[in-house]
Amino acid sequence: MSVADEAELYLRVIADPRSEPSAHECVACYVARMVESHGCDTSLRWAQRFRELRSPTATGLERRLGSVGGFCDCEILLNGYALVRELMVRDVHTDDLEPPTELPDCAGVGRTSTRPCANWERRRPQ
Ligand SMILES: [Zn+2]
Ligand SMILES: [Zn+2]
Repeated sequence: MSVADEAELYLRVIADPRSEPSAHECVACYVARMVESHGCDTSLRWAQRFRELRSPTATGLERRLGSVGGFCDCEILLNGYALVRELMVRDVHTDDLEPPTELPDCAGVGRTSTRPCANWERRRPQ
């Protein structure tokens, strides 16, 4: 895909009201939702969009995400935050805990909060 095509696709995505965080949706649920439907472009574009729309003054957000290993949107979820155990499902074959196929509804945060909701916990360093 050319840069121009990508830019056009992005403009189409952000014109869609579903691409905005809902009133009490948290940054982790929002980023997970957007990465699932639109992918990660190796930047923090969804996290930044969340901040711009919900908490424009929270300029430390990107640094905080970087400090948990989240240097792009998908890394926030790979390195930074995982769903809490209670929301994971046990794989009947491998007996491993895995994320549910559908993201649970966001547990909700304050309107300008940039913290993940109660559905998420910090991943322990490997
Ligand atoms: Zn990524
Ligand atoms: Zn949430």
